[in-house]
Amino acid sequence: MRVNRFDAAALDAVDPMAFVRERFVIPEGLVYLDGNSLGMLPKGVAERVEDVIRRQWGNDLIRSWNTHGWMDAPRRVGDRIASLIGAQAGEVIVADSTSVNIYKLLMAACRMRPGRSVIVTEEGNFPSDRYLIASVAEGLGLTVRVAKTGHIADALQDLDDRVAVASFSHADYRTGALHDIKAVTSACHAVGALTMWDLAHTAGVLDLSLTDANVDFAVGCGYKFLNGGPGAPSFLYVAERHQAMFEQPLTGWLGHAKPFAMSEVYEPSAGIGRAVVGTPSMLSLVALEAALDVFDGVSMAAVRAKSIALTDFMIDCAADQNLGLSVATPLVARERSSHVSFRHLNGFEIVQALFARGVVGDFREPDIMRLGLSPLYTRFVDVWDAVSHLGDVLRTESWRDPAYSIRGTVT
Ligand SMILES: *Cc1c(COP(=O)(O)O)cnc(C)c1O
Repeated sequence: MRVNRFDAAALDAVDPMAFVRERFVIPEGLVYLDGNSLGMLPKGVAERVEDVIRRQWGNDLIRSWNTHGWMDAPRRVGDRIASLIGAQAGEVIVADSTSVNIYKLLMAACRMRPGRSVIVTEEGNFPSDRYLIASVAEGLGLTVRVAKTGHIADALQDLDDRVAVASFSHADYRTGALHDIKAVTSACHAVGALTMWDLAHTAGVLDLSLTDANVDFAVGCGYKFLNGGPGAPSFLYVAERHQAMFEQPLTGWLGHAKPFAMSEVYEPSAGIGRAVVGTPSMLSLVALEAALDVFDGVSMAAVRAKSIALTDFMIDCAADQNLGLSVATPLVARERSSHVSFRHLNGFEIVQALFARGVVGDFREPDIMRLGLSPLYTRFVDVWDAVSHLGDVLRTESWRDPAYSIRGTVT
């Protein structure tokens, strides 16, 4: 098969999701393939945040907590995210960072399985998850069982009634490989263990149903496929059936049933409200809330269909160009999230060389070049352009320019 740019343009011309791109601020000439790390800026966000700063904060001040719905925002935005991940209203709330929420939910989940001594995770899980799992295990005197990535089926065979909690990322941050969230959750439940899923690379891009998968606990990221802006607050999900038993370890005043009673003793709020610790970061939260408008009238099934079409197209274009790179991402569409990763030991330099050509992806140690394909704003021509630049960079070896080996703090 020879794929040319006209084929890509033809796919864009019939793309039912094409109109959504108009909802974003897109820098001229940029091919942005890093929406899995920081989603693009939706139109209207700057105005909404400016209104909160100038009018609500500047003029209405403290009254805004009531009059402008600031206090209700964590639940309100949580309910909107719930509708994107197949959860019920009242099961999701927005607060803190993903890392902090991982800690809160893991602690709570482990405490719900007293007498059990093991947390299960996998080798390739995201570093924050790994470190926090280790910290929770140490704090509670548990041990961590680390499954080899790619061998989760074996790990599920080994599950037993010593396992309190199993915690995985839904998508592998390096390869984009997905776990079968329903099958893994059900295997854990079969031995009485609870599950805690990290949805950082799947919320806002997959047609998830946490209800159908019977998930216990989950966290996700506000600034990746949800486009909430740098450092946007995270969300956490607690299945309704666990909410009354769930003891969140960071017992701050805003998780209290009656924060303004200022009582001496902590009494958790009923429901998901107890997952909150302190005062919400309103400016970030408002940015996230405004950003979610891009999902209006867009079905997650359509988002997923476009994601599959884009990732398939990228894999086809790469094969067509004979790049000679190994694809780290599963070739079977339903087994992958929304990025395509190629392996190369000089991946860092290659990504920098692409950057100089206006193609933004990222590099993850040790050899992963990640190209994220957000279905809301990525076009098929962007994919074609990116792969043809990648082909040029590899053929001309322009990545060998020493300028491309200089590492910033963030890679
Ligand atoms: C991006 C990401 C996070 C981010 O955590 P922060 O607390 O926002 O820094 C967590 N987990 C996974 C799997 C991620 O990809």
